[in-house]
Amino acid sequence: MKRGHRSCRLGLVVVAFGLWIPLAGAAALDWTAVEQEAVELLRDYLRIDTTNPPGNELAAARFWEAKFKAEGLSPRVFETAANRGGVWVRLRGGGRGGALMLLHHLDVVPANPSEWHYPPYAGEEHHGYIYGRGAVDAKGLGVVQALAVLLLRRSGVVPPRDVLFVATPDEEAGGRAGAGWFVEHVLPGLGQVDFVLNEGGHIRPTPSGKLAFEVAVAEKTPLWLRLTSHGKAGHGSVPPAESAVTKLIQALARLQSQPRAPRVTDEVQRYFAALAALQVGEQTAHFADLRTALAEQKFRETFLLEPRQAALVQDTIAITVLQAGSKTNVIPARAFAELDCRLLPGTDPLAFVQRLLEVIGDATIRVETLLQFPPSASPTNTPLYAAIERLAEGENARVVPSVLTGFTDSHYFRERGIPSYGFAPFVLSESDLQGMHGADERLSRTNLREGTRRLMELIRTLE
Ligand SMILES: [Zn+2]
Repeated sequence: MKRGHRSCRLGLVVVAFGLWIPLAGAAALDWTAVEQEAVELLRDYLRIDTTNPPGNELAAARFWEAKFKAEGLSPRVFETAANRGGVWVRLRGGGRGGALMLLHHLDVVPANPSEWHYPPYAGEEHHGYIYGRGAVDAKGLGVVQALAVLLLRRSGVVPPRDVLFVATPDEEAGGRAGAGWFVEHVLPGLGQVDFVLNEGGHIRPTPSGKLAFEVAVAEKTPLWLRLTSHGKAGHGSVPPAESAVTKLIQALARLQSQPRAPRVTDEVQRYFAALAALQVGEQTAHFADLRTALAEQKFRETFLLEPRQAALVQDTIAITVLQAGSKTNVIPARAFAELDCRLLPGTDPLAFVQRLLEVIGDATIRVETLLQFPPSASPTNTPLYAAIERLAEGENARVVPSVLTGFTDSHYFRERGIPSYGFAPFVLSESDLQGMHGADERLSRTNLREGTRRLMELIRTLE
C-alpha cells in the first residue's frame, strides 16, 4: 500500500526560481537502505547520554556536526553553558519565502535501568524496535529531521524554501539554556524564518480506523506558584491552635475542594470537532460540539473522569512540593507548598492568582510566581499547515489541530511571532507513548523509514 503511494509521487516536480526540477534523486531512493541508515543513526544517538540534569548535550551537538560536515554542509555548534550546547545547519532552498525550521531537543529525562527490560543507553534493537531513553522524546524525531536534510542534499533536490535543522539542549528543564538562549543569540542572525516544526503532536490510530495527523497548534501555559505560611516555632508537646503548617494545610484544602467549571476554548472546541469524524457511536455527536455536550450532566461527569480530557477544559492546579519541619518534635516557623498550575489559552494569569487568593482567604499566606510563560498558540492558515493537510490526504487521514496539556519549546518561537507546530511524523499507539518519560521507550523501524519519507515529502511540497 505504501509502495503504491510512493510510486505515484515519483513523477513529482518542484518549482524553484521558476524552474521545473525533476526529482530524479528522490525517485532513486533505496528505502531499505534509508531505513537501515535511520536505525543506525538512532542507535548511535541513543548511546550518547544526554540525561538532563546535567544534560551534557555538547557531545550530541558534535555528533550531528560531524554528520553534516561529512556531507559538505556547514553546521554551527553553539555553547549555552559549560558542556552544554546545540547545533544548527542550513540546507539552501529555492528562495521562496522564509525558512522552515526543523527543531528537536538533544536532552532526555532520566531513566532508571532497573525498570527497563533493555538498557536505556545502549540503543539495542529487538523485534523491529530500537530501545533507549529519547527514542520517541525526541531523538527519533531528530534522526528523521537530519536524515531528510541529508537525503535531499545527496539527491541534489532543491526544496522550495531553506530548511534549518536546529537541535537545542535543556528542553526537559524548561529550555532557558536551550531554545530560550537560541532565540536570543542565534535566531536573529538566521534571516527570515517562517515556521517551526517541533515535537508535540504525532500520528494516532483512531476508533474509525483512519489515522489522525495531530498537529499541536496550542499549549496550556504553566504558572508555577509557591505558597508560604509563617507561624510561631515551638515544641511539639504543646501545639498552638494555629501554626505555619495548619494554616498552609487549610489553604491547600480550600484550593483542592474548589469546584472548577469546565471552559471550552475555541482551540479545544475545534480540536474535538476535528476528532469527531474519527470517532464511532455517540462520541461523534458529543465531540462535534463539545460546548453543548458538556452542558449535559451525565456526559460532563464521564468526560471529566479522564484526566487528560479534564485538563483540556479546565485550568488545573497540582500540589507538587510540600515542605515544613525536619524534626518530629519541633513545630516549624515556616511551611511552603509549590503548585503546578496550567492555564487554558485565554485565562488571564493575574485574574487566576487573584481568584486563588480569594479562595485561600488568608492574607498572611504569601504567594510568589516561580515560572510563567505568555499564552502559546499558532494560526492554522499557513502554507506549512496546508502541506501537512496534503500529506494526510495522501494517506486517507485527517489533520487534527490539537492542544497540548503540557508545554514544549514552541512557545519561545510563538512569542517571536513564528508559527510553530508540534508534529512528529510517526504513527504512535498508546503503548508506544507509554515509554515517553517511562520505561522501555522505543521507536519502530517502520516509523523511522515512514517518518523520513513523510518529512521529505513535506519539505518538497511546502509552498
Ligand atoms: Zn520532548
